[in-house]
Amino acid sequence: MTELKTGGAQGYLRIATEEAFITQGVLDAYMRLVAEGFDDPGFASLWGFYSSSPSARGVQIRDGLLSLGTKRLADMDAAGIDKGIIALTAPGTHVFQADEAKALTTDANDQLAEACRAHPDRFVGMTAIAPADPAWSAREIQRGADLGFKAVILNGHVNGEYTDHEKYFPIFEAAEALGTPIYLHPQGPSKGLIAPLLERGLDGAVYGFGVDTGLHLLRLIVTGVFDRFPNLKLIVGHGGEALPYWSYRLDYMHAAGVRSNRYEFLKPLKLGAISAYLKTNVFVTFSGMAFPPAIRFCKEVLGMERIMYAMDYPYQYEPDEVSAQDDMELSPEDKRAFFQTNAERIFNL
Ligand code: CA
Repeated sequence: MTELKTGGAQGYLRIATEEAFITQGVLDAYMRLVAEGFDDPGFASLWGFYSSSPSARGVQIRDGLLSLGTKRLADMDAAGIDKGIIALTAPGTHVFQADEAKALTTDANDQLAEACRAHPDRFVGMTAIAPADPAWSAREIQRGADLGFKAVILNGHVNGEYTDHEKYFPIFEAAEALGTPIYLHPQGPSKGLIAPLLERGLDGAVYGFGVDTGLHLLRLIVTGVFDRFPNLKLIVGHGGEALPYWSYRLDYMHAAGVRSNRYEFLKPLKLGAISAYLKTNVFVTFSGMAFPPAIRFCKEVLGMERIMYAMDYPYQYEPDEVSAQDDMELSPEDKRAFFQTNAERIFNL
């Protein structure tokens, strides 16, 4: 194994596309919600742990999230990461009432913009939004673009509501108009989904995140959000939240459901199959999924041009995974696309 270095000696730069941060303001507000017993079991499980756990993992995650400077840069250097595309961590400000959410979101975007200005070669930002106020969020997406951000972070459901509801469409409309992708990131499963996961400690990134986020993306597809916003670009992490692997059965059974009028609300989609949207509107990163067989599978199913590298800092800071992916069985051109050029094109860097 060669020493990991930035600068592209291996034939490509490494751009990590799903990296997280938090502001002290959001962290303090999470701690307040935890103390108040905020009624959201996914949030309570996630931030009840990460906001205060004295474990080595708890401390490392908080330190990493809070750093937009020295520590983050040193960790990126040690792992050979040239650029990090950084977003407010889950669940963002989705858990707050609109006024507090907007104030915290504005501040988070301002802080991230300042860090990106200070380290323009290393940091790229995503615009945080406050989906409790979709019209305001649409304006914040424009402000984010003006600040130089290259995507929008959507941290999953909004207090149990998924964003296929029409009231959230101003967010999609704004992103589509600007050509900026939306990164749909997991958070704890919604209240309606979480019970049997939580009962066995499976609600977090281990599985529940993927269940909730894959479901969220599927809902966006079958509701026709991409028919309404055909140029909307949506990015999901974790190898596509399992949907590529499921795509054959999704297509077959969705078509069968539509043909048989089983559900009055289930309408034919303009592109026909669910998988057609995965190949048209959706891009996939491999955050937390340093698994070459899955990467090669997604190449075959979605196309090499749709898949990207991510680390998932600080939640999965594993330099060994970077070297393992450097060494994976994939042509040099494909590796360059995976680590660098796809991200440059999709995020318009
Ligand atoms: Ca993440």
